[in-house]
Amino acid sequence: MKETKFEECCVVSENKMLSVEELLEVSQSNKAYFTTIKDSLACPECRAASLTFRPNAKTPHLSTKKHSIHVENCYYAFEPATKKQLQEYRDNPENHESIARKLNSCLDSLVAKSAPNVIRNTEQSTAKGMTESYLISSEKASKAVPRKRITAIFYDEDYEIPKLFYGRVIAEWDTKNDRPRLKIYSVQNKYICSVWMSKTVYDYTESHLKFKSKKECSVAFFTEMKLSNNFKNATIKHSAELIIRIEDM
Ligand SMILES: [Zn+2]
Repeated sequence: MKETKFEECCVVSENKMLSVEELLEVSQSNKAYFTTIKDSLACPECRAASLTFRPNAKTPHLSTKKHSIHVENCYYAFEPATKKQLQEYRDNPENHESIARKLNSCLDSLVAKSAPNVIRNTEQSTAKGMTESYLISSEKASKAVPRKRITAIFYDEDYEIPKLFYGRVIAEWDTKNDRPRLKIYSVQNKYICSVWMSKTVYDYTESHLKFKSKKECSVAFFTEMKLSNNFKNATIKHSAELIIRIEDM
């Protein structure tokens, strides 16, 4: 069975959350500390399953320890949906509300566990209904919709398949051409990707979100990321596939 990839884990001994990038950083810069926490890593959602961090793998990642199991309704207990299932789900207009709920859940998770590069407290992280909102049902079983933080390292498997991309970023509209795009930068102002759309989709964007210059905000979008000439590009087909939030940060 294919596993849904972990983006972060709970350090049970300290009741803290660490992302894969933060774990990698800790494993390299503070080996003594990493040794004290490495047997205390658990599933970020159910905390029932123990995780192993593999910093030396080709792509550093967290995996569920052998024989360790997640609680029944944990997001990570579900097999990820296939590319075909995700495309069908996206292309069915009846799912626009469901897509918006998932994108909002992603953005909510950023608020609950904010502040990159600091060890976070987990108190608010296990919200009820969280799992359900990331699932789609196929003929037989519920499948997990993959999530990906756009500020994290991208792997081959992050391209060419619909995912819930999300993150706290700096964004800037480029509407000079026929196809408007939202240019996305990290909060350190490093260019990440562009989200392209038709003029019609852009027109549906609420006017207060059509900011005139670079703006710090949270964005979430559901589509495929494509790589061309080393640049990451995503195209949304409907306004429900993109959510921008401006809040006090
Ligand atoms: Zn779990």
